[in-house]
Amino acid sequence: MPFSELGLAEPLVRALQAKGYETPTPIQRDSIPILLEGRDLLGIAQTGTGKTAAFVLPSIQRLVGSQKRILPTHCRMLVLAPTRELAGQIAESARDYGKFSRMSVATVFGGTSINKNRQDVSRGVDILVATPGRLIDLVEQGFLNLSTIEILVLDEADQMLDLGFIHALRKIVRMLPRKRQTLFFSATMPVAIRELADQFLHEPATVSVKPAATTAERVDQYVTFVNQAEKQALLTIVLGGEGVDRALVFTRTKHGADRVVKLLAGNGIAANAIHGNKSQPQRERALAAFKSGQVPILVATDIAARGIDVSGVSHVVNFELPNVAEQYVHRIGRTARAGASGTAISFCAEDERPYLRDIEKVTRQKIAVEALPEDFMAQANRIKATRVQAIGNDPAPREDRPRQQRGPARPRATHSPSPTGNNTGRNYANASRGGGQGGGQGRGASGGGQGRGRSGQGGSRGGSSAAR
Ligand code: AMP
Repeated sequence: MPFSELGLAEPLVRALQAKGYETPTPIQRDSIPILLEGRDLLGIAQTGTGKTAAFVLPSIQRLVGSQKRILPTHCRMLVLAPTRELAGQIAESARDYGKFSRMSVATVFGGTSINKNRQDVSRGVDILVATPGRLIDLVEQGFLNLSTIEILVLDEADQMLDLGFIHALRKIVRMLPRKRQTLFFSATMPVAIRELADQFLHEPATVSVKPAATTAERVDQYVTFVNQAEKQALLTIVLGGEGVDRALVFTRTKHGADRVVKLLAGNGIAANAIHGNKSQPQRERALAAFKSGQVPILVATDIAARGIDVSGVSHVVNFELPNVAEQYVHRIGRTARAGASGTAISFCAEDERPYLRDIEKVTRQKIAVEALPEDFMAQANRIKATRVQAIGNDPAPREDRPRQQRGPARPRATHSPSPTGNNTGRNYANASRGGGQGGGQGRGASGGGQGRGRSGQGGSRGGSSAAR
């Protein structure tokens, strides 16, 4: 079904063509006609489903249609997002989708100058994308007026709640006119979220795509049991693999993220970290370097990664498992964007096994176990021995070095039990990951999604490139 059949106007369809979108995703197909009618919507969908376009496109069309003038310091559509990164991504998409519809778009979030925000909204703006705290500051200081909002979007409501934004949200909603269209998106729908939705929405239509389990199905997932102390060596081995085009590495803490970056630098692998202690320009630089491929390894905490929308992330590595199982789904959803496939590898230390059990419960699947390479300890020792003095947070870009210098030689397979006794018969150097395993894993990599963007390297190896 082409986009024009959903009732979208020509300038929007043209903008989608310019983006290379051919057909609507399920959430777009189901939501756009409802939203064009002006109805409220409860969307149960996670990032990666195309939900941004699902709410931005019809909203632009309605804003254009209503032909109201923008007043100074006012805005017409307000999108609330839990993190700066997500707010930035939404604004970027809104600019793209609205580029032939003459929509003005501004962002407002903490970590940037409030004076700049003030200037950006002083003449009024069609679409304002904001995080709750900074938005309230601007309103309370008299720089922004929300009384003429026509459309409100709450994106990733479950994250907003997790981050403690509930009071801020209630406060913001009290500042808005009662007559408005409200769109509410959340990846999960626990009771607290449903109650919040009931308060904010008026006779909403509900559209639900992709329950938590199904993102998981597009991602080849593996878990390797490894001692905490050896994770760094394993990460070096994984990232040194030829099929790794762009990898997002997750840690639970900011400190952990910085430490991983330093240790990787010590092994000659360039990476950047993105987390709450980084300044906005630092985050933006790290994200830009990741997107452009200049530094294709990004180490992130869960919160910081929420807004990351980069296509071509070939691998997600859970250096530490998340202690909230739903985060696992969010993390692995960073690969396999918009229907593509990807690989997620989780490093699980002994004390993280309860987290793994929770994840398997939430995703209703058993994650395939990938044994350590059998000569792993020897390799790990080599890696430690070759580790140069950590060279700080700003190592040379990955491209600047010949590939083979980025890590130790890739592990070579021989078959013997892994140190943790979890040998599945495969290991990190063994190319035939697809079949023959006991334990009913049944999730051999198809190979179709591997090696993207690095032509001639990934395809024939199937999923094995994932964990090299
Ligand atoms: P979202 O869930 O809004 O974060 O979107 C996930 C990714 O899918 C983004 O990179 C979008 O640019 C992309 N995308 C959204 N809609 C489509 C579509 N209809 N066809 C292809 N890609 C899309």
